[in-house]
Amino acid sequence: MKIVVLKFGGTSVGSIERIKNVANIINSYYKKKYKPIVVSSAMSGVTNDLIKKSKEISENFLPSEYDVLVSSGEQIACSLIAARLSHIGIRSRSWLSWQIPIITKGNHKNAKILSIYRKKIFDYLKKGGIPIITGFQGIDVNERITTIGRGGSDASAIMLAKFFKAERCIIYTDVEGVYTTDPNKLKKARKIKVISYEEMLEMASLGAKVMQPVSIQDARLNRINIEVKSSFKKKPGTLITKRKNFKNNKIIAGISSTQNDAKVTLVGVKDKPGVAAKIFKPLSKNSINVDMVVQNVSANGKETDLTFTIKTDDLNRTKKIIEGNKEIKFRKLLLKRNVSKVSIIGVGMVTTPGVTFRMFQSLAKKNINIQVISTSEIKISVLIDKKNTKKAIIALHKEFKLDNQ
Ligand code: ASP
Ligand code: MG
Repeated sequence: MKIVVLKFGGTSVGSIERIKNVANIINSYYKKKYKPIVVSSAMSGVTNDLIKKSKEISENFLPSEYDVLVSSGEQIACSLIAARLSHIGIRSRSWLSWQIPIITKGNHKNAKILSIYRKKIFDYLKKGGIPIITGFQGIDVNERITTIGRGGSDASAIMLAKFFKAERCIIYTDVEGVYTTDPNKLKKARKIKVISYEEMLEMASLGAKVMQPVSIQDARLNRINIEVKSSFKKKPGTLITKRKNFKNNKIIAGISSTQNDAKVTLVGVKDKPGVAAKIFKPLSKNSINVDMVVQNVSANGKETDLTFTIKTDDLNRTKKIIEGNKEIKFRKLLLKRNVSKVSIIGVGMVTTPGVTFRMFQSLAKKNINIQVISTSEIKISVLIDKKNTKKAIIALHKEFKLDNQ
């Protein structure tokens, strides 16, 4: 069986017209003798709307009921697709996760797919049917409905590709693929033909909103090739695969930037063992995500400055928590909004010397001040004033020869 998993995102099924178009795309695989397994997200806006309703009912909406509620958008989209396929003469039906079933583990709202039963879907495929499966949802051992995190139908698609040993997993979305940088911000952004899991994971985690980061990790672990393409235009997309599968002649694959970051600096912190832990423990307890962290070596052995970044939304809570933390002593607390993290990503930097220098030099030439730096094996990030973000991206895109000719 030539199985192909086709996943459609919210905008691809965002209207009746678009759902009709999706049915035609599915049909084109069917005609080529593929056995499509289709995964759909909810029509765009539906999940957000359901979440809003849950908040209006109660700020402490039961997580188990939350999952029943917010996973319902997928049911609507799947039945519309299946019915449209039937309309054009193709055997199809919707499958809700409990009917298969798709088993998850872990907490409500953020469960993880553990296993997918194959028998019923295989039988249905053998009979020539096209299953349209609800993304984003599963059931737990107690047969309660679960959801697997926002954007989770990507992970549903990857796991279906894994359990059904699909030849291909295609993620249909509203952009043509993965770009060297956000094409809405930079006209010269180029569509990337092939990118490694590692690079894509960094890009997605750093703000390229093409795919849900955890799903890329699942694909990497299971060696599933992913193709990201547009459901609106018939054009080749981007292939996400393992490094060995392609020759890379670019040092840097892409550049990403974040929005809504804020910087927090504690000046003159008493430098004792365990002090950083004391600062960050209450933040993590309150689910505040800390991103970049720098601590200076203390010059006099007594005091040091500690800087970290968080999302602007968390700034007020962070301020309160730090000011109320009796276990730490510091002289001053500095808060700064409107900073942005710009990152260059590429496996090529592992083997190419001088990348850091080239990045810093091109920013210096544009008079852009770097406030914080953090690196990993395949990424260098700098924190700069938000107003300089575009200027920085333009300079780096050019420096690393990513511009569209
Ligand atoms: N509909 C869900 C969401 O909006 C899942 C998805 O889009 O993948 O998060
Ligand atoms: Mg989505």
